[in-house]
Amino acid sequence: MSFRYAKQEKLEKIGLSGQKALGAARILIIGGGALGSAAADALVRAGVGHITIMDPDTVEIDNLHRTALFDERDIGHHKAEVLREKLSAVNNDIEIKSVLQRADASSMGAFLDVDMVVDGTDNLESRFIMNDMCIKHGIPWIYAGVLATGGNVMLVRPEGPCLRCLISDLPKPGTYPVCEETGVYGIIPQVIGRLAASEAIRYLVGSKGAKTSGSNLILLETWPPSMEAVSVPKKDDCPACSLHRFDFLEVP
Ligand SMILES: [Zn+2]
Repeated sequence: MSFRYAKQEKLEKIGLSGQKALGAARILIIGGGALGSAAADALVRAGVGHITIMDPDTVEIDNLHRTALFDERDIGHHKAEVLREKLSAVNNDIEIKSVLQRADASSMGAFLDVDMVVDGTDNLESRFIMNDMCIKHGIPWIYAGVLATGGNVMLVRPEGPCLRCLISDLPKPGTYPVCEETGVYGIIPQVIGRLAASEAIRYLVGSKGAKTSGSNLILLETWPPSMEAVSVPKKDDCPACSLHRFDFLEVP
């Protein structure tokens, strides 16, 4: 038993074998902003052995109200690089890589030698690409999204149900609410990012390969507080997880 993870290894649901599984695991986090950095922090502290953070953006002052790991000295520096540096100081046993590229249908494929992908993005288009890419390559992924004072998390297994079972198609821009218009409560990406990390950890230690009939979509609201998990059914005509037609990977 390692002293660093002593309290975690004591948990019946993780134990020594779970800790070992985490140490061997490889996770790609797409997006190093508020959501992605909260997830990365939790995964590094939990001992996930190999973490790649993909984000081309730099830290801006308006990120600081919702991102725990960034401070004023980081403004202008690449988010993925800042995270690699800070999280290496948290846990130097972990292999942390930063990739300063935007994750799209052509760039993402080079970084998919992983056990899981965690969503730290801020837009639905990237998530539809992530959904197609992960299902095509047989990789489970965690969908995580925030809006205003609430957020969602869903574990997507390659066999489905998937994001397109939940939202059948990418809505037209301007037809659905986004954080640029609604604003975002600084607490919520912290909670949702960590919940996404928790779903990744649960999958890696406990239910790898398990067959289930439905995923749980976790819906969390902070104002006023509530949390529920609902079952998302797999659609027989889902283009991605049922028909294996990957509309969002067709690069124009
Ligand atoms: Zn589906």
